[in-house]
Amino acid sequence: MTDAELKHLLELTDPEELAALYRSAYEVKLRHIGPKVSLRGLVEISNICRKNCYYCGIRAGNSNLKRYRVSREEIVNSALWAYDHHYGSVVLQSGEVSSDEFTEFVESTVREIMEKSDGRLGLTLCCGEQESRVYERWRKAGAHRYLLRIEASDPELYRRLHPADHDFEARKECLRRLRALDYQVGSGVMIGLPGQTTENLVHDLRFFQEFDLDMIGMGPYIPHEDTPLGRGVCLTPEYKRSQLEKGLKMIACTRLLLKDVNIASTTALQALADDGRERGLLAGGNVIMPNVTDTSYRRSYQLYAGKPSLDENSRQSCDNLTRRILAIGETILWDQHGDSRHYFNRKQETEQ
Ligand code: SAH
Ligand code: SF4
Repeated sequence: MTDAELKHLLELTDPEELAALYRSAYEVKLRHIGPKVSLRGLVEISNICRKNCYYCGIRAGNSNLKRYRVSREEIVNSALWAYDHHYGSVVLQSGEVSSDEFTEFVESTVREIMEKSDGRLGLTLCCGEQESRVYERWRKAGAHRYLLRIEASDPELYRRLHPADHDFEARKECLRRLRALDYQVGSGVMIGLPGQTTENLVHDLRFFQEFDLDMIGMGPYIPHEDTPLGRGVCLTPEYKRSQLEKGLKMIACTRLLLKDVNIASTTALQALADDGRERGLLAGGNVIMPNVTDTSYRRSYQLYAGKPSLDENSRQSCDNLTRRILAIGETILWDQHGDSRHYFNRKQETEQ
């Protein structure tokens, strides 16, 4: 597909044309993956963060929240809960902390989860930018996938979203490090950011392609009241509808372009519409990350406004979600890692 074609698809607004776009992306998903969804139990292990991204509700500069770190024992219990409920895989996510103590904490937690699940649980980390030796320790402990969104692939837009000491090149370098350490590498962007153009989004799609990513995790930007970018912004029904539509179009275009990668149908879609994640699956997504963090922590981990399932416990989220997925004709890959096909396909290519 040419840039002009991608731009055209991303600018569609006619409901019938949009439905046709989602349908064709879904057909590509059926061909390469099938009508299947992989689940990852998400544990929000800590909201302590040294960074100050202008859009994020847990940025260091926000003093309107209680900072926490879940104990190792509780994280392991949440992961094992996901394992016992046949999720096949978990994601440990946190704010960014660079310290030997944190490195060791994550390392020993990963190791314990792997031991207690007999090495069978898939494990993804999403703990920000780290040095190579840190990623290496975590990889050796048993993590095999890593998510690090580039957030905005255009350096100028990236610069406008972050303070001066947040370095776009350093973030790209982290993606290269992860790749060199044989992680399945995921990245992505926020969609519908202030000042973001359709050309920026086309650039994002090309970035995914150039970096040959295995997994894409992206979602609509949702303003948060306690951030420089979100202060005073009103989430009107029209704004929410339009953000959701942009998110779905990006999922569809990514599926059409990249075919065999894992694409998350992210919780931010659900924050904009009750059935947002199901719509993401029908536009080409194949991964859902149900929250398995203990309910007591969820209020303190709000990256954006309107985070769903704040009071729901993991059991309720699981039953609710299973019903919804089955209702749209998809099946859940219970007890499987749900690894990225693309990862294995590219490995095979390099061996030949
Ligand atoms: N600290 C790590 C991981 C936690 S943040 C990191 O930054 O990589 C996880 C993701 O939340 C970020 O990558 C960002 O894309 C997303 N996010 C943060 N604020 C958001 C907002 N206001 N709207 C939508 N997504 C947001
Ligand atoms: Fe911290 Fe990640 Fe939020 Fe940036 S997006 S402030 S690094 S948690």
